[in-house]
Amino acid sequence: MRTSIDKNTLLTTLKTYFGYDSFRNEQSAIIETVLNGEDAIVIMPTGGGKSICYQLPAVLFEGLTLVISPLIALMKDQVDGLKANGIAADFYNSSQSAEDQQAIIDQVANRDLKLLYVAPESLAGLNPILNKTYISCIAIDEAHCISSWGHDFRPSYQQLGFLKKSLPQIPMIALTATADKATREDIANQLNISHAKQFISSFDRKNITLEVRAADKRLDQIKRFLEKRPDTSGIIYCLSRKTTESVSTSLAAEGIKATCYHAGLSFDERNKVQEDFIYDKTQVVCATVAFGMGIDKSNVRWVIHYNMPKNLEGYYQEIGRAGRDGLKSHALLFHSYADVLQLRRFTQGAGNEEVQNAKLDRMKQYAEATTCRRKILLSYFGEFLAEDCGNCDVCKNPPQFFDGTILAQKALSTIARVKGKEPIGAIIDILRGAKNAHILDHQLDQVSTYGIGKDVSWKDWQHYVLQLINQGYCEIAFHLRNNLHLTESSKEVLFNGKKVRLTAPTEVLKQEPVEARK
Ligand code: ADP
Ligand code: ZN
Repeated sequence: MRTSIDKNTLLTTLKTYFGYDSFRNEQSAIIETVLNGEDAIVIMPTGGGKSICYQLPAVLFEGLTLVISPLIALMKDQVDGLKANGIAADFYNSSQSAEDQQAIIDQVANRDLKLLYVAPESLAGLNPILNKTYISCIAIDEAHCISSWGHDFRPSYQQLGFLKKSLPQIPMIALTATADKATREDIANQLNISHAKQFISSFDRKNITLEVRAADKRLDQIKRFLEKRPDTSGIIYCLSRKTTESVSTSLAAEGIKATCYHAGLSFDERNKVQEDFIYDKTQVVCATVAFGMGIDKSNVRWVIHYNMPKNLEGYYQEIGRAGRDGLKSHALLFHSYADVLQLRRFTQGAGNEEVQNAKLDRMKQYAEATTCRRKILLSYFGEFLAEDCGNCDVCKNPPQFFDGTILAQKALSTIARVKGKEPIGAIIDILRGAKNAHILDHQLDQVSTYGIGKDVSWKDWQHYVLQLINQGYCEIAFHLRNNLHLTESSKEVLFNGKKVRLTAPTEVLKQEPVEARK
């Protein structure tokens, strides 16, 4: 099993089969580990160059490298790419006839193949060759799919633990672009490779500008965004299929080559969308998160999140599809409180509700950040930037704080007076002295703070109250009709005159793109 290989051989192999002159980052250390017969866990951002970490060893190993991959739709492309480079590769999955499948097994038995891609649910069919006579290495691609902690859990991945048990001498390499510490440990445990060497690359994608805007007239904002970037490719992620359709229709009506992509389309339709995008026939794809995994398009110039994603792993992976060529790219997130509430509803009653809510909270903190966003994003992956990045909206246009103590006192005392029985909208209506049915039916116009915040617009109040939530003075009781409750620390503000610093909405949530503001 042990293959002692010098660096020159590795470089020659890299050049001969993949056409590159040098390894990136940790690629060579990873490859040496695998060739040395040791297990490895590779955490590398999308576009970082994970594939070569198992494809190059596969060329040098005597036997077969088995690649477990969830992406049946992309296996053929991956295999075609390898064949074009002169590497004997094939795939084995449920899309093939029994004869085709048998032919693959025969090829392996004849030692004609170097790489075989297989879907986890089809593994059982490979039993005849699943032994150390034939197999030299096992690669688990998109390894986060094994963990219910990750964002893309697939039950079929959970049975993969048997591989290490039945083939303990065969090196295993697990690869993913997403993993917080908990997911990483879960991957190692479930695959039975807890002693594997871990290779964690930097997640910093410096070329991607990070920006968050309020979800106000999103379509208009997107149209202006596109006007400034004619003919550039991008993806607009939406929460629902319906939104992908309505957004793409609106953009198409403006003459933009936009289309939509979601799991409700047929296999052929989805393939066509992907191809048209890859070959620049479509400029904009409005998609659900079903789009993008494994898509190798280097010149995606921007990614917009029309809706808030449910966690930072997913968000990071989705924006990581921009700028894989290293050129300047843009990630724009629209932040809407309605989205947060909707996502909360999705997690209600889910088995791991608490974990999911905690992750959603981190996502929200990112969206509402008043300090460098990249620092927040990277710290989620356990990476700490010494300096502010200079390439996010907060860095480029730091929010101006002012003394918001009086505003805070008005809002918090209103929450106190309705005894935590009203949600954020009603609190703002009371402050502004609104006369709608809810206010009148519940005699909220009798509350002593009724109308004391007339001079502040509804949107501005929303912005201030959200900050009070973020600063921990009040909280949303998600299980109690989203009513606002005071927390202990609100007492400091209400009774001890503690100062509260707020940011002006016009500064944080400007509608113009960050470049235009400089
Ligand atoms: P990942 O699977 O991590 O998203 P890929 O393996 O698809 O990334 O690689 C991303 C891109 O980088 C591909 O186009 C690949 O050919 C290229 N690449 C990988 N390694 C190198 C290298 N050492 N030098 C130059 N380009 C590389
Ligand atoms: Zn920054």
